[in-house]
Amino acid sequence: MSATTEYVRKWLASEEAAGRPQSFLTAEGGPVSYEDARAYLDELTAQGLRFVPSCDNTDAEGRCAGHEEARP
Ligand SMILES: [Zn+2]
Repeated sequence: MSATTEYVRKWLASEEAAGRPQSFLTAEGGPVSYEDARAYLDELTAQGLRFVPSCDNTDAEGRCAGHEEARP
């Protein structure tokens, strides 16, 4: 599953508006502040990504580009 940066941005805004503690995690771990989470999304957008990368094999837009099936 790949979430767009725009989707995550809206979700962050609604979480913050509801007064919930921030739970967004970066690839390095986390959690981070709402401010840092938005800065991270801005960084992804600046890199031309439309999706928040969720693994180490992504296409130019940040979407998972697939993985070879693990063989027994
Ligand atoms: Zn992947």
